[in-house]
Amino acid sequence: MSRLVVVSNRVADPRKPAAGGLAVALGEALQATGGLWFGWSGAIVEDGTPGEGELHLQQAGPVTLATVDLCREDHDTYYAGYSNGVLWPVFHYRLDLADFDGHYVDGYRRVNQLFARRLLPLLRPDDIVWVHDYHLIPLASELRAAGCCQRIGFFLHIPMPPPPIFAAIPHHEWLIRSLFACDVVGFQSRTDLGHFAGHAIAAAAATPVGDHGLDAYGRRLHAQAFPIGIDVDEFDRLGRGREARETYVTTRDEYARRRLLIGVDRLDYSKGIPQRIRTFRELLTRYPENRNSATLIQIASPSRESVEAYADIRIELERLCGAVNGDFGELDWMPVRYIHRTVARRRLPGLYRAARVGVITPLRDGMNLVAKEYVAAQQASDPGVLVLSQFTGAAEQLEEALLVNPYDTRGTADALQQALAMPLAERRARHDALLRRIREHDVHRWYADFLGALDGAFADQVRQLTLERRQRRAVAGA
Ligand code: UDP
Repeated sequence: MSRLVVVSNRVADPRKPAAGGLAVALGEALQATGGLWFGWSGAIVEDGTPGEGELHLQQAGPVTLATVDLCREDHDTYYAGYSNGVLWPVFHYRLDLADFDGHYVDGYRRVNQLFARRLLPLLRPDDIVWVHDYHLIPLASELRAAGCCQRIGFFLHIPMPPPPIFAAIPHHEWLIRSLFACDVVGFQSRTDLGHFAGHAIAAAAATPVGDHGLDAYGRRLHAQAFPIGIDVDEFDRLGRGREARETYVTTRDEYARRRLLIGVDRLDYSKGIPQRIRTFRELLTRYPENRNSATLIQIASPSRESVEAYADIRIELERLCGAVNGDFGELDWMPVRYIHRTVARRRLPGLYRAARVGVITPLRDGMNLVAKEYVAAQQASDPGVLVLSQFTGAAEQLEEALLVNPYDTRGTADALQQALAMPLAERRARHDALLRRIREHDVHRWYADFLGALDGAFADQVRQLTLERRQRRAVAGA
């Protein structure tokens, strides 16, 4: 049968739970088909040659992990420069933070060519290739140029900006043309899909065909929204684990006299964390009954610390949190607990469950899985309330959350107050509807739908094999 080949910037051993929900889910499809996962090894060779990198092959159960080293020059241009200094800010609508250094795109192209060169000899004729995310937009076209005829899908995990913003990238036409080398391109939301189609039609004279087809550059592309989900059962299992239970009990006891709000993000300017602290301040100002009570725990896990914009936001956050604590704090109450550290995933369900309000207010986010995890972790009998930015992909699905505009400090503070005061019956009704939707659109459906669009028969085979593996595991565990 066909084999799934996943390509992404980083590769994780899918057998390790620390790998995270996506790795576990992709690992399931990879394990079912004895697949291959290809990407950067994470190693930087200081004096290596640009465009070169050693290939490493490693077996993780039935899955082959194939990784390539990068030299310093390639890492700095492809990864830090173009991927995270140009594409990440522009795709999150932050033209002001983009560094359009012409040198970066050369490294970006070079590493995509290197990946194509190293991957091609590993491919079998009936492999199904699934490329992930903004680091690898030109990979399919580099593979095609080298003679690859296999089916190729691409999924963009981050937002797709509207055409006028996208058009500011000097190489925007090349990026769109590269995507037309794929058979299927997937986006997180209908909004993102609309932006891509709008740009392809305006800038590349693409012709829409049927529900999902776009014809341009002599090829037909299937473009569709496939909103990514979480593995609800896996997250339930985490929630029942010792560390999640301990975290829940400790947090609940420590804040027994308070009402807890929680934010969990990578420390990234797209997450709107400074705006969130200002909103929390507004809540304490406008609704003084929350003083000495409402407490915001903000986890901001370190991310891309070598990039300047990230250092700036860290300084801003420390100042904002310090000011709220200085102005409103009491001897026995610190309004904001800001934690600049990664919290182990297996503890998070306990933290989410202890919080009355989940404050998920990015300025722009492809999906936001924390929002879904927060809902999944709640106790159905006494659930917390999700306050969610309308600018996340998740907002298209999670309509029963309190949807907010994070730029509107006062409006968001009002929503926080509404969440804190929400009667039990309404909390239950909203939670019930949200959980149903999160279950319906879980990560298994996401990859099954995507693979189905890429190759229906292959997706059926993966589904069948995955089911059999799960049944075997259940019998073994019984
Ligand atoms: N996460 C974690 N520990 C932290 C912060 C985040 O394990 O301290 C996990 C979180 O549970 C979620 C993921 O990282 O699964 C973040 O995904 P999301 O889509 O919310 O944001 P991204 O970081 O991908 O932009």
